[in-house]
Amino acid sequence: MGFSEIIGQDRAVSILRRLWSAGKQPQFMLFLGMPGVGRKLAAVSYAQALLCENPDKSKGACGVCKTCNLVEKGGHPDCMVIDFSYQQKMRKKDSSGLHLTIDTLRETVSLLRRKPFSGPCSICLVDGAEDLTIPAQVSLLKILEEAPGHLCWIWIAVSEDRLLPTIVSRANFKVYFQPLDEDSLASVLIKRFGLGEEQARPAARMSRGSLERAQIIMEKKSVKASAAGPAVSWTPAQALTLSQRIARFRNLASARKDVGEFLEELELELLWLWRDKPSPQQLGRLEALLKARQDIEANVTPALVLEHLLLKLG
Ligand SMILES: [Zn+2]
Repeated sequence: MGFSEIIGQDRAVSILRRLWSAGKQPQFMLFLGMPGVGRKLAAVSYAQALLCENPDKSKGACGVCKTCNLVEKGGHPDCMVIDFSYQQKMRKKDSSGLHLTIDTLRETVSLLRRKPFSGPCSICLVDGAEDLTIPAQVSLLKILEEAPGHLCWIWIAVSEDRLLPTIVSRANFKVYFQPLDEDSLASVLIKRFGLGEEQARPAARMSRGSLERAQIIMEKKSVKASAAGPAVSWTPAQALTLSQRIARFRNLASARKDVGEFLEELELELLWLWRDKPSPQQLGRLEALLKARQDIEANVTPALVLEHLLLKLG
């Protein structure tokens, strides 16, 4: 796919387009930003542009040649993607961990040192670089230091704070990806999920700029849709129940993680209940829940967050 298909990241795309058309390929780039904002899509587009059989000078990769297709499907021999699927493939057993480990990378070194099979260069994408354990980062750092000239690295991470400083300092280029704005996210939801504007808009609003989060909301909603049947209408009695539920939970819970999960569940439930046309009051309640979740993530005391939420919900 060409660079123009990356929606809502004009600044990052214009940097990548300029780098690519200048023909001076940085050897090591960091793509930084929250998940679900187009980092992987941009990395794949960039890899396609480097390897494409019929690239367009202004648009990037053609998106339709055999090479572009293979890169997109993760099957091109000159474009390696290191992520949890790769770990599963390399280790088969015992691969369900929370981290990408050094064991996964044992054979990677020789794979990365070999010459490109067909294209002018080879590319290694590390998707979720913060998931690499420290020893795994160190082992890749060694390869980075001795990297053969034909190898281009793109590491995708949430932020540079989660990577070894020595790795961050080696990056020739950092490309920052912003949370998607509401319009961009809604347009992706309409285009890819076939949603109507009235469904896409609230989902985009609640997803805080992340398509990944929007997908989770969509999935949960469809599960609830099949379980819950037809739409349930919201009544003042249920509003009372909402406050009661939060109050009850406040008395039981202390762990930040539990509170975060409880608020997320509640938010998804309300998104489902109010999926058609939320009233201004309902939108206000959703905003209050969203703010509470943000406070939890920002390390505000959970009891305080719940207390404040209850006050806001009245
Ligand atoms: Zn192509």
